[in-house]
Amino acid sequence: MACAFVLIDGLGADGATALTSIQKDVAVGKCRQWAVTAADPTLSRPNYATLLTGRNPDSHQILENGDARRLPDGHLFDRLERLGLRSALVGYHWWRDLTGREGTDWRYYDNDWTSDAWVFAQAAELATASPDLLVVHPMGVDLAGHCFGGGSPQYLAAVTALDHLIAQFAATWFRRSNGRDPLLIGSDHGMGEDGLHGRPTDRERQVTYFAYAPAWTAPITEQRQVAGLLYCLATGGTAFSQEEAKA
Ligand SMILES: [Zn+2]
Repeated sequence: MACAFVLIDGLGADGATALTSIQKDVAVGKCRQWAVTAADPTLSRPNYATLLTGRNPDSHQILENGDARRLPDGHLFDRLERLGLRSALVGYHWWRDLTGREGTDWRYYDNDWTSDAWVFAQAAELATASPDLLVVHPMGVDLAGHCFGGGSPQYLAAVTALDHLIAQFAATWFRRSNGRDPLLIGSDHGMGEDGLHGRPTDRERQVTYFAYAPAWTAPITEQRQVAGLLYCLATGGTAFSQEEAKA
């Protein structure tokens, strides 16, 4: 079993309705949709740390985007590695700060204007090496939100463009495993209409997760549960508890 996780930076629950191909799959029961609350503060780096550790910011103590500390051992990638399982990631360079991971399975970008198409081209390449967990982190939606505001036509256009890229990636991902390998799609935080995030408003905290994981029926409701869910999906486990996420 292998799992892919597409983490859409800056996509709030409102904007997720513009992921039309995924919404069609939800409508026909191919995919489950869950409302998830992002950890506070709704800032990328603290949120990435929550996604990796299964802990809220008051526990992992990465509280702001300017804090470039490395996470202590024991996060999701470490736990999979201890089982002999391999993770791979294409994402913003803050993931390097958090994990210290380097090598061909770890592809970072530091230009905020990096295209989502490039990110998914990297993801397609990484997928051919059959990692047990593949994290794909595009930031085009977040950038459009900062430039034009959450819910703006430009923001929604970025979501629509991303929907095509995800659909292409998903088709390849499922073809490789005859549809057995799960795919999780979610977001770190939403986006205010003023082009900012970091506050505890509904627009910034409420995000949507989509799970192509037929064996998985238990919804998650909080961002800190994602680490445990990914662990279970990548290892083929079927039980989830918060204790598991913290172990
Ligand atoms: Zn942002």
